[in-house]
Amino acid sequence: MSIQDQVAEMQQRALGELETASDLVALDEWRLKYLGKKGELTGFLRSMGSLPAEERPVVGQVVNAARKLLEEADGLRQTRLQAIALDQRLAADRVDVTLPGRPVETGRVHIITRTMREIESAFKAMGFQVAEGPEVELDFYNFEQLNMPPGHPARSMHDTFYFSESVVLRTHTSPNQIRVMEKQKPPIRVIVPGKCYRSEATDATHDFMFYQVEGLAVDRNVTLADLRGTLTDFARRLFGAERKVRFRCDYFPYVEPGVDLSIDCMLCGGKGCRVCKYSGWLEILGAGMVHPQVLRNVDIDSEKYSGFAFGMGPSRIALLKYGIDDIRQFFRNDLRFLEQFA
Ligand SMILES: [Zn+2]
Repeated sequence: MSIQDQVAEMQQRALGELETASDLVALDEWRLKYLGKKGELTGFLRSMGSLPAEERPVVGQVVNAARKLLEEADGLRQTRLQAIALDQRLAADRVDVTLPGRPVETGRVHIITRTMREIESAFKAMGFQVAEGPEVELDFYNFEQLNMPPGHPARSMHDTFYFSESVVLRTHTSPNQIRVMEKQKPPIRVIVPGKCYRSEATDATHDFMFYQVEGLAVDRNVTLADLRGTLTDFARRLFGAERKVRFRCDYFPYVEPGVDLSIDCMLCGGKGCRVCKYSGWLEILGAGMVHPQVLRNVDIDSEKYSGFAFGMGPSRIALLKYGIDDIRQFFRNDLRFLEQFA
């Protein structure tokens, strides 16, 4: 067989094999076999040395034509295989946008925080500002300025944590009312939310740490009717517009007269149930007209100005509003409990 025929045969075989090269690795092998330095095509060029001089140019032409053809076919095949490889990779990596997303666990606002915010927004809507004060407090603000000098019997109602004789953990948020009145002259309309501490044995309705929201309004001609109107409005904003309210006399050393506010039990509609202890009424806060001595203590003229004050426990409000039976649940951090109040 002439060299020309051998080249033609090799070219046919190479093109046939190229068709079966199914991926880029196979294509590399194919290229080495035919077009590489030790490939078949180069082999023909090497063998040219043994040919007669006049045949060499002809054979050289044939070999070069075959190389050009095979290189072109190689380029086309490579483009095709790269496209196939890309398609395969895209198919394997494809994101299924129809898959449902993984739910993101978000936290919830704690039920006490939520209740505090509800209380705050009810009073803000009536023009009250929010003021916060220190939890570690001077005896002077916690008791003395609130009409409870040393030895006053009302002090025994507060089981106090003492740091020293003159420094306590505040037993109520009222001391901050004094701080507000020291800094600000009437008219004053402020509520004071925050944590308080008492050295109590814990049970279903008492804890040694609890929240309180107190409020204070001082201006000319503030009367018990203003107290009634403001607190009635508050109770209805929080517990529903249809609530009945009841005020009764109560005693707190820094108010005169003092009252407590009850609403008709929304669980039994006033008929009587376990929560309202079969009375039909739920007590939600204590209040009263600010004692003139308390005003004088902060240099507010009690002849010109009068005011009312009130205080409530957000824990108790939440207990009543959501029908919870143990105050200690609030701070056990049991998610099964807390997640119910989404
Ligand atoms: Zn009831």
